[in-house]
Amino acid sequence: MVSFFRNFVIKDSIASRLKSMRSSATVEHMKKGLVLEIQRMSTEDGPGLRTTVFFKGCSLKCAWCHNPESISLLPQIHWIGSRCIGCRTCLDTCPHEALSMTPKGILIDRDGCDGCGLCVEECPSTALELLGESWRLEDLVRDVLKDRVYFEKSDGGVTVSGGEPTIQADFAAEFLKQIRAQGIKTALDTCGLCSVRALDKLLPYANLVLFDLKEIDTRRHLEFTGSDNRTILENLVHAADYIDSHLYPEGLWIRTPIIPGATDTERNINGIGAWIKTHLDQKVKRWELCAFNNLCRDKYARLGLTWQFENADLLEENHIQQLVSVAKHSGVNPDIVHWSGSLKFEASETDRESEKNGLKIVP
Ligand code: SF4
Ligand code: SF4
Repeated sequence: MVSFFRNFVIKDSIASRLKSMRSSATVEHMKKGLVLEIQRMSTEDGPGLRTTVFFKGCSLKCAWCHNPESISLLPQIHWIGSRCIGCRTCLDTCPHEALSMTPKGILIDRDGCDGCGLCVEECPSTALELLGESWRLEDLVRDVLKDRVYFEKSDGGVTVSGGEPTIQADFAAEFLKQIRAQGIKTALDTCGLCSVRALDKLLPYANLVLFDLKEIDTRRHLEFTGSDNRTILENLVHAADYIDSHLYPEGLWIRTPIIPGATDTERNINGIGAWIKTHLDQKVKRWELCAFNNLCRDKYARLGLTWQFENADLLEENHIQQLVSVAKHSGVNPDIVHWSGSLKFEASETDRESEKNGLKIVP
């Protein structure tokens, strides 16, 4: 199965990418942040109803990434073919001649496009969208506070996610600080590949830390994500110790994406559980196995990228249940193990009988 990932070539080193990201990110690091999306009423990024701010730029490059538009720290555009009326306005607008009309639609020259957004402004049918918007801190805080009533009713709050929020650590930390000052609970969702310094900027202002631990085998982690997991494991221990010795954050959740043909092995889940038992015993409130989803297929197509998981199915229920069982027997407190996400629909005998009689079953 390892060969399955051979075409996942990491062209640039993580170190150089991080370096260029940091230098770009520090230009206006406190006043403005590059935000991909503000997702409201989310139930996936912490307790209750949440507003999740997805920052742009990531230090990992996971082969299965569900938000490929979040990886680059630069603004990008994408084209939505179903909305395009073929007027060619965008072609005339682009100062870099980065757009061309082809039989398959608008083609974006990714090397030529600098994400200026002019074509997006001029497109009469919203067929072009800009991914990544620069937000002033006070505007972002004001916007998110509109959802206060939902947080209060559901014991929810605000989560910073990405991408990787520690890449814009100064901005993200100040954002969390101001949200917390309003009496709203906060969460940091991190992939863990960052400097301790960046992590320490955010930890004091998060009520909860959601920390990804995807693959315990260092070599496989490198193969799947472009980076080995040594810094991530060190940072996880650091975050757990910090949480143990401070008032905030109050909790640590670990999340493991269960990806078919990659992280979905019993060996990986057992290995992660054993590692948690050894290094973080009693410090983890929840370990969540997050089932793979394939809803992001269109995102890859719009960015002109191929996705090696394009034809991968959702997980079957017995598979995730088996991994949950492995996790519960791996040495951790079984009560902290949970799973989330969508599973492959399997028709029951009754459904199959109905289909035979001409009734279509819609999952
Ligand atoms: S975002 Fe700017 S550079 Fe990129 S295609 Fe549009 S107009 Fe051209
Ligand atoms: S301006 Fe918009 S609608 Fe017109 S060709 Fe370009 S993408 Fe299509």
